Amino acid sequence: MKLTDPIDSLPGVGVKLSTAFALKGITTLQDLLFYLPRRHDDYSHITPLYKIRPGPVSLQGRINNLKTRRIRRNLAITEGIATDGTDSVKLVWFNQPYRQGAIKSDQDYFISGQYKLSNHHYSIINPSVELVSDLPVQSARILPIYPESKSLKSTQIRRLMTNVLTLTATVKEFMPEYVSDELNLMSYADALATLHYPPSMAKLEEAKLRLNFNELFPLMLANELSMQDMNRLNATPIAFKVQLAKSFVDKLPFRLTDDQRRVIWQIYQDMESDKPMNRLVEGDVGSGKTVVAVMAAVMAMDEGYKVAFMAPTELLAKQHANTIAKLLKPLGLGERLVLLTGSMTKAKKKLAIDQANHTPGSLIIGTHSLLSSGVDWHDLALLIIDEQHRFGVDQRMEIQKQASHVPHFLSITATPIPRSLALTVLSDLKLSQLKTKPDRRQEIITSLVAPSGFDRFLAKLKDELTAGHQAYIVCPYIKANDNHDGLDLESLAQRYAKLLPQFDQGVLHGQMPPEEQTAVMQDFLSGKLNLLIATTVIEVGVDVPNATLMGIYGPERFGLAQLHQLRGRVGRSHVQSFCYLIQADDSEPLPRLREFVRLTDGFALSELDLKLRGPGAIYGKLQHGQAGFNLTTLDDARLVGLVKQAVDLFFKRRLNLVNYKYLSQLVKSAQHITYLN
Ligand code: ADP
Ligand code: MG
Repeated sequence: MKLTDPIDSLPGVGVKLSTAFALKGITTLQDLLFYLPRRHDDYSHITPLYKIRPGPVSLQGRINNLKTRRIRRNLAITEGIATDGTDSVKLVWFNQPYRQGAIKSDQDYFISGQYKLSNHHYSIINPSVELVSDLPVQSARILPIYPESKSLKSTQIRRLMTNVLTLTATVKEFMPEYVSDELNLMSYADALATLHYPPSMAKLEEAKLRLNFNELFPLMLANELSMQDMNRLNATPIAFKVQLAKSFVDKLPFRLTDDQRRVIWQIYQDMESDKPMNRLVEGDVGSGKTVVAVMAAVMAMDEGYKVAFMAPTELLAKQHANTIAKLLKPLGLGERLVLLTGSMTKAKKKLAIDQANHTPGSLIIGTHSLLSSGVDWHDLALLIIDEQHRFGVDQRMEIQKQASHVPHFLSITATPIPRSLALTVLSDLKLSQLKTKPDRRQEIITSLVAPSGFDRFLAKLKDELTAGHQAYIVCPYIKANDNHDGLDLESLAQRYAKLLPQFDQGVLHGQMPPEEQTAVMQDFLSGKLNLLIATTVIEVGVDVPNATLMGIYGPERFGLAQLHQLRGRVGRSHVQSFCYLIQADDSEPLPRLREFVRLTDGFALSELDLKLRGPGAIYGKLQHGQAGFNLTTLDDARLVGLVKQAVDLFFKRRLNLVNYKYLSQLVKSAQHITYLN
């Protein structure tokens, strides 16, 4: 028997079972060994029957009085009495008539199951029964509960697992030796075996610690390496000029919030260093992150260096170009702004590139494609990345390839990262938070709209539009389709054209040609359109202060972070704004939608999102098929402490990653972390 043997080489695995396994991605014995339990139920303690209490129980005794009754064609009930010399208990099995023949009255058994009230009597329902003389697999031990499917049950997996358990010994260790020698962590092989067959709860905890260590160590090692990398690199120090900052602030049409001042100050301090800045500005939608970014840009431009500003979409790049032009003009820097997008004609692109290269201290705004556009980045001093949900590692690599130095990095996002993550695996990233919003803002009033309340919603929408305000209708799909339940842009556009013929309406989605998108957005911005029916293309950054109402169709089809981003498109002025979640039927709204109605703070929502969706969804790219690691373990002081120690030892011993092939793969993938997908 070896790890690469096919699963159907095991006794009792035929076509049916191997198909069920294949659906779970299990085709070899190795796959089976790495199929980890979701949880464990402790049935290891044998209770004397006179002490039995409702709940999971294990007992040791004999079974008598077995009889089977056929209640209906598809229901057979087998009952028996178990006694252990202290008392007796009734056992009940549904549709397991074979029990009657299998159980012998003169043998000792382990019996495990739930002792509970059923049909007015306490009994153990569907207990597992195994001979005391055999090694217990399904009873009287800590039972692993595996992810199941209709044709694949934990009982089957447990039985097969006992066959392959010895193979764990052949699983190779991939951590440096000091991990088991000095830190006394369980070996990888033992941890796997323990997870499938825990000898005690204490050992099980040790095994879980080891597997969580497997997950966290590469992340923290990657973090440390990237920190060392950054410290080796040189960036261009940007001198802080108080006069320039003052005149920028003086020419703003508003007063900066205290948070904005504090964050800008942090950025200026970073940029004065010859080490590259790596800072993430987190702030709720509408907290005024753009001005902060532009103030950073201005300082570098004034020294004659290039600044690149990357937005997630062309639409946003154009919008940023418009707002930023207004901020630069009063300083006489308007001419230095260059917009460079993929959809431009070749001639226009060339013009833009020339302008970027020949204007000292230019600010180039575009999308991701900026870095491959052919602009000369040798004098790039600052790279600003807006709403990418990414830490800019790839961009840094790209720039390093093209320029002889590394620019300062500034990322801005409305989707905060959980604190525990920031403290452990992302400590090379400095965080700035904009917690307060410009004070003229009012909280957006959010409510759920059941079908019976639709007319009231429509009346409200009419009122807002009549008052000269604008509104968004957001839908999850573009095209009509049987699975889209009428929640598509096509159907809703038709519907609203009929419902509100007196208002001008436009549609916007990501599959329209970019020029068309820009034209529609322009019409909405200028007020020519009253109502915009759109998909989530408007999710990030779109800024139309006169829009005061948003109706979101199919809200249950969006994640919390996304809903929050969408809601941020309204409430962008002093006027009261509204957000309605329009439900298709009268069913009970999802808990997360109820929370969304209650919570308006993005920081609180991000923590809730983490709790409700689980780290798997947020950490998507990081999971390498091993269970066990989840963000809550980042709060585990013992684990985090051990990993820190391990990272220190790695460098103290001057170990080299090239000698640890698998570990170095894990480190590499950790360096490309994505969060909140
Ligand atoms: P976000 O953080 O969502 O990117 P923006 O930077 O787009 O927010 O700012 C939202 C709006 O608030 C913009 O119209 C901007 O001009 C305005 N704004 C920014 N800072 C202030 C402030 N201190 N006082 C008043 N309005 C502000
Ligand atoms: Mg923004």
